[in-house]
Amino acid sequence: MSGEPVKPGTVYLVGAGPGHPGLITRMGYDLLHHCDAVAYDALIPLELIASLPARVERYYVGRRAGRHSMPQIEKNRLLVELALRGLNVVRLKGGDTSFFGGSTEEAESLAAAGIPVIVVPGVTAASAVAAASGLPLTGRRGASWVFFATGHGSGDSAIPVPWQEIASLRGGTIVIYMGLANLEKIVDQLLSGGNPADTPCMVVQAATTGVQKILESRLGEIVSDCRRNQMKPPALAVVGPVVQRRSRVSGPSIPLAGKRILVTCCAQEIETVCAVLRDLGAEPLPYPSYVLENRDDEDDWAQFSQVAASGGWCVFANELEVRSFLEALLRNHLDIRSLGRMKVAAIGHKAESALLRAGIRADLALSGAPLPPLQPERLVIFSEVSPALPPSSTQVLRLKLFCIRQGLWESHWVQEVKDSPPDFLLFRNREEMDGFVGALGLEAAQDLARRSTVVAFTGEAVSAARSWGLDCRPEDSDILGEI
Ligand code: SAH
Repeated sequence: MSGEPVKPGTVYLVGAGPGHPGLITRMGYDLLHHCDAVAYDALIPLELIASLPARVERYYVGRRAGRHSMPQIEKNRLLVELALRGLNVVRLKGGDTSFFGGSTEEAESLAAAGIPVIVVPGVTAASAVAAASGLPLTGRRGASWVFFATGHGSGDSAIPVPWQEIASLRGGTIVIYMGLANLEKIVDQLLSGGNPADTPCMVVQAATTGVQKILESRLGEIVSDCRRNQMKPPALAVVGPVVQRRSRVSGPSIPLAGKRILVTCCAQEIETVCAVLRDLGAEPLPYPSYVLENRDDEDDWAQFSQVAASGGWCVFANELEVRSFLEALLRNHLDIRSLGRMKVAAIGHKAESALLRAGIRADLALSGAPLPPLQPERLVIFSEVSPALPPSSTQVLRLKLFCIRQGLWESHWVQEVKDSPPDFLLFRNREEMDGFVGALGLEAAQDLARRSTVVAFTGEAVSAARSWGLDCRPEDSDILGEI
């Protein structure tokens, strides 16, 4: 009823983990996908945001190029305002909420406004650095204690870290967050406080991401080593004998390690595509260039029922088509029994396993297009991107499950790629290419393409790139086969 006071929503302070999107807790991930609004910082893996349903309001409160993040007081105010509108809000923070992240201020101001707050812990950078570099933070022969300190020392109100006192202690590990900018000063204090110059130490940049860098050194040389190796934030320094005890476990082969790759597929597919790239060692930049909206056309479904009754092939080109088809059946008052006498073809193992999960065994599993001639020749396809069809296919029903809407990129995303162009811009079809140009504008898109390498996966993507005047490299290797 109008005029009735709105019941305030709950604010969840959620730790997003250190950088790999798989390192958020299951609880955090579920809350994120069911909330009404999210306010997020700079170090959050963007897949977590880019894949959210369109109905979730997004607020970026992190650092923008050359500028500080939103002042803490404004962040507090934003959270209160959102919750007072009755929204359930996820306040997503890097790592764990209890380490150097302003959670106390936010929790206090929410509590003062009578808004319920729930804290969901995350994996803090120190744990991530330890795991990613095979380093034990403690050990019976290495360290019995760990200090977590900030190297930032910001503002008059910050309590100074007693570096010299810490340096006089033995038998432990010092972990320094936000230490890169002041590393020289901190190291000087540790040395003058009694830490020997040959104390083992290490700096790890962007642990658990595709651009992770590990630098092992000694206290006396760490500053110059960091400069020489151009170490950049976010980075964590670890000082102490445990550094020598790290096990150099070799991981799986990672052909794309260190490569930043712009991914422009639709929001609904972005997590899947980025996950493949991450498994290959890359750091994906998830920039969905278009959004798919459900499209239900009665005539299409009537035609589908006719084909299904007379028998033919349903061809699923990817997992998204399988999921969307099954959802669309239910929305249109049908279910899998409507497949009737149809046979089913799956392109790629992801489509095949998505079908299996729905209790449908594919009659034909293909590793890729083009399709072989199929009998009978009646085909139902779902793709926005049609698989290359055999020349003999005479009857093809393209059952459109979606309409395409232009994706909008947040201004800080645009700034990020302009400031540091990705190694590769990846395109699989015309929609991705057109959406990319639409999101950036032609001039900026051409400029970015010149400063990066455009990789086009299909003939369609190659010709789309050329039609926009972008040079591109056709991709024929199978490194990225499954995406
Ligand atoms: N709440 C966060 C810390 C925020 S302070 C947490 O629990 O991890 C931000 C600092 O954390 C960065 O300056 C850096 O020192 C460290 N950090 C965050 N992510 C990191 C990563 N992936 N690798 C190395 N250091 C990281």
